[in-house]
Amino acid sequence: MPSLETDSARNGTAVAAGAPVCVLAKVGEASLKGRNRRQFLDQLRRNLKAAMSGLDARVLDGGSVLRIAVPGEPEAERVGSRLERVFGFANASVCLACERDSEAIADTGMVAFERLRPASFSVRVRRRDKSFPLTSQQLEREVGAAIQRRTALPVDLSRPGLELRVELDQRSAYVHVRELAGAGGLPVGSSGRAICLLSGGIDSPVAALMAMKRGLSVEFVHFSGEPYLDPVATSKAQAQARVLNGFQAARPGPMWVVPFGDQQRMLSAVSPPANLIVLYRRQMARVACEMAARTGASALVTGDSLGQVSSQTLPNMASVEDASELALLRPLLTWDKREVMAKAASLGILALSELAAEDACPLFTDGKQRTAVPRAELLESEAQLDLAELAESAARRARRVDPGVFLDPLEPESRAS
Ligand code: ATP
Ligand code: MG
Repeated sequence: MPSLETDSARNGTAVAAGAPVCVLAKVGEASLKGRNRRQFLDQLRRNLKAAMSGLDARVLDGGSVLRIAVPGEPEAERVGSRLERVFGFANASVCLACERDSEAIADTGMVAFERLRPASFSVRVRRRDKSFPLTSQQLEREVGAAIQRRTALPVDLSRPGLELRVELDQRSAYVHVRELAGAGGLPVGSSGRAICLLSGGIDSPVAALMAMKRGLSVEFVHFSGEPYLDPVATSKAQAQARVLNGFQAARPGPMWVVPFGDQQRMLSAVSPPANLIVLYRRQMARVACEMAARTGASALVTGDSLGQVSSQTLPNMASVEDASELALLRPLLTWDKREVMAKAASLGILALSELAAEDACPLFTDGKQRTAVPRAELLESEAQLDLAELAESAARRARRVDPGVFLDPLEPESRAS
């Protein structure tokens, strides 16, 4: 039985001496997926293990609740920071394991009481082992009484100063000492693979993240304005991809850099400047589809948001879609810029994304673009070039960059709005 002694030398991270520490992570939506459940859980487990790389943390079995054993609470905190990047978990908690006995649970729970010094409390029990002889309510009452003997605090079921959460499986009881955020979503890889058009700007990395959240594993393609522009935007995209790969550590996405300036110059020679961005976008879609055919991806992802700029009106987006053989996903379609910026800030990449860099898109356009480029004009310009062949050769010559995986704690940026 763990003693009441605490290890307060560790700066407020007191732990009941001897109580093994673990993190319980609860599977979210993936646990609902009927026949594919096994596959989902296997994928999630692989993703979790990859995200734990370098930590002293062991992922143990457990169906819809995965147990991660750690040597102590500081490591549990690091596990928590990594878990924020593993899609598929609804929530998680740092727990102390003990015997399935109300006295042991009350002893272990004292850690939480010493930390929070509440004026009242309640106990909430969840039994995952339904064969345990006491019902949840009976055990709640027993643990409550044992805590009252130790603390003399009143029970308050409606507004407790501390709600002590306890879980039971076949093996142990787990006393929650801290709740952690779950990333939600579905395990990356469980919905297939997509290619995200990553510009180095603010929207596309957030779009990539949202695609991952719904279970897509993402590779990146970046169109650089070389040889006419310097590669600052490319470096930004690469740094963004590294952060994004922290959310898909089991299979980090490569970034394909496509020198696009010459194709833009050719398009500018066959079109009025005000139609150019839509023509560029259509050609980007063709190149990205070629890349997808090579890498086995089955959809494209962009950072378009309806009405944000002239190339993102309904008519122009429909024109771009027409040039894409693959489904073109736009996770941010209905997002406001502020929402996108807040999400980028939460990843710690907003300042990076905002760094000035020459974007490939405006190249040769001299500014103003039409909000509804007539389809006939697009087709007339395009008929003067062999764009399928150009797309194929661009994909063939794309440079592969491996951006790596960023797994250090994310540093959300605060922004006075
Ligand atoms: P972002 O901040 O993502 O660049 P944006 O608001 O600047 O978006 P656009 O420049 O119109 O919007 O680009 C729309 C989308 O097209 C981008 O979100 C991205 O998915 C794709 N895209 C644009 N330029 C590039 C590029 N140079 N390389 C890769 N993808 C691009
Ligand atoms: Mg852009």
